[in-house]
Amino acid sequence: MSNVRVRFAPSPTGFFHIGSARTALFNWLYARHTGGTFVLRIEDTDSERNSEEYLNVIKDGMKWLGLDWDEGPDVGGNFGPYFQSKRDGIYREYLEILRSKGRAYDKDGAVFFKVSGEPQVLHDAVYGDVERVEEKDFPIFRSNGTPVFHFVNVVDDICMGITNVIRGQDHLTNTNKHIELFKAFGAPMPQFAHIPLILKSEGQGKMSKRDRGALIEEYQVKNFMPEAVRNYLCMLGWNPKNGKEIMPIEEIISLFDFSGIVKSNARFDERKMAHFNTEHLRALPRDKFRAIARRAVESESDIDLGKDEAYIGKVFDLCQPKAANMESLPSMVRYFFSDDYPFDSAGREKIFKKGDPLARLAEAFEVLKNLESFDKDSIYAAICSLAENAGRKSSEYFQIVRFAVTGQAGGPDLFPMLEILGRERVLSRIGSAFSKIG
Ligand code: GLU
Repeated sequence: MSNVRVRFAPSPTGFFHIGSARTALFNWLYARHTGGTFVLRIEDTDSERNSEEYLNVIKDGMKWLGLDWDEGPDVGGNFGPYFQSKRDGIYREYLEILRSKGRAYDKDGAVFFKVSGEPQVLHDAVYGDVERVEEKDFPIFRSNGTPVFHFVNVVDDICMGITNVIRGQDHLTNTNKHIELFKAFGAPMPQFAHIPLILKSEGQGKMSKRDRGALIEEYQVKNFMPEAVRNYLCMLGWNPKNGKEIMPIEEIISLFDFSGIVKSNARFDERKMAHFNTEHLRALPRDKFRAIARRAVESESDIDLGKDEAYIGKVFDLCQPKAANMESLPSMVRYFFSDDYPFDSAGREKIFKKGDPLARLAEAFEVLKNLESFDKDSIYAAICSLAENAGRKSSEYFQIVRFAVTGQAGGPDLFPMLEILGRERVLSRIGSAFSKIG
């Protein structure tokens, strides 16, 4: 265990969005990289805007992403309470410290912090040295008696022994006030690391909670792989400098450091996130893929997987290399479990554009009917020689056979797919396809 202590300090006033998740993730990565402690602290002093529901969304999202915290709500720890709403006594004590040093005074019912007037230098691990003078005294308690963010944030970082403050670049302008406070308390300064903003997919704006794809919940609902979402978030503002982006988390943990955090803003790209998801799905061990595929398909009420486990396993194994995501998987496998599958009209149009596909289908039917063994290699060889004898391209046969049997123009590898469906089903589907698509 190292003495590194970092914290994620959300205010539960809204859903868990990409930006917050990325901040939590970078703190977690740094803790795991250094063998330090990751603290979850809830900044809920604004009782009107905080809610239990939002807190649960944040905790669920963190658990889903695998960001386990070592201290905080539900797990406890020696530096609690971990809710700011329960730390009022501590804040009063710290206010007295400032008063005794002549650094706090009352004005118009509020309590103000008296700034030093000296320039302060922030040594930021990402942005380098930033010098600023805090010219005006600022409030630390409102006239209604509630403490202000800057004050509680610093007091808690002191009390909780936080060694590194990793947070969004939008806090950079607050940090000068925080440095003033740390110095006034005579407390050791944590190392600050401000991480770049996440811009929305187009334009210059910062990604906001209202933007499409901005909430972690959306990916939970769409059955994204949490490992893929987490991997993508790692690349929003951090560069592993090994030319790779898609990596297992163990590798990321071992590489993660402030030197890899980039200063320029990161841009959120939904398509890239989807690509990460696809790559992670394809790289899954078979049994893991089978398990999540089953969950995704079972939740479709019109698909009955049946009881033939060996068959179900073969179908999922066959589809894994072609599966783009779990959302589209049900439509990709539906025809394996029911003879009542839809015919894709765009696919039909493409295939019927030239030639006489139904004539090719009739020829293929005869060949498949008379095959000695209905295995993928024999099917492939038979259709190829049929095409060769007819002086045609084999794709003319492949396309229409696939379409007749699945209703789709694309899908998993054709020959193993036909083998898995079996001769009887393939022939009966081709037989009835003439009237359905003709
Ligand atoms: N509650 C603050 C926020 O959500 C925490 C800022 C910090 O990490 O210091 O932005």
